[in-house]
Amino acid sequence: MNYLTCPIFGGQFSGAAIETLQALPQADRRLKALVQHVETLKQLKDYQGKVQEFVDAGNPAAYRRARALMEAVACGQRVTPTLSAPEVNGWLEELRAIETHRELVEKWGTFAQNLHPLLYRYQTAYEALHAERQAAYAAVKAELDALAIPTETLADRLCAGPVTWGAGGLTCPDCGTALETLYYQIQSAAQEKGRLIQEARGKRQDAEGTGQEAGGAEEFVVVYLHEVIATREIADDAALAQAIEELRDAIQAELKTGKKVVLA
Ligand SMILES: [Zn+2]
Repeated sequence: MNYLTCPIFGGQFSGAAIETLQALPQADRRLKALVQHVETLKQLKDYQGKVQEFVDAGNPAAYRRARALMEAVACGQRVTPTLSAPEVNGWLEELRAIETHRELVEKWGTFAQNLHPLLYRYQTAYEALHAERQAAYAAVKAELDALAIPTETLADRLCAGPVTWGAGGLTCPDCGTALETLYYQIQSAAQEKGRLIQEARGKRQDAEGTGQEAGGAEEFVVVYLHEVIATREIADDAALAQAIEELRDAIQAELKTGKKVVLA
């Protein structure tokens, strides 16, 4: 890798001097141009020394981890308010500005300073979602276990943690779930529960012929909140009472038939 021509380095050099020299085929014309650009080339030589120090310190690898973090935070901002806080945007802006101006070598200290709180904030947000997913799916599993419904398919969403972070780690090494995916899995816990219940009902009906007629009265029925509660926005006690009334009606109708109700 030629660090001097890499887009992330050498902001103060346009690269024009080098390109001019490289473009000249004849040695004498090259020499003439070299004399014209001698000051720039001297600076470039100093800069090359700084770049070498930068490379020897292992900073290019740290920079690659930083890039991955910046992208992960940008994705996470779509689902986690804590990653959209003003200070997070401030850190990101500072990091991006240093990149845009190709000042990584010159401003690596500032870059690293902004990186630390960003990584900490990201990992804290990740750990919270990781724990939230565990709680959500452990609850789903407990309910399904009580109904003797298989829960093997939930295994990849059950990861108790705690998350052990490697250098620049962005996902849990045990489940490898991306932060955004954690969020969407949490959102779909109730749906997943409903799906497994329906699937189990279907299998039981198949096994028992036509279900109730064959003597296999169903023990439970799934009541979907979004289907039975028509009230969508609750801004006061009256609307709350209305929503509860709708839910009560739906549940009581099922209870009258002797079934147990599972909410989803
Ligand atoms: Zn995990």
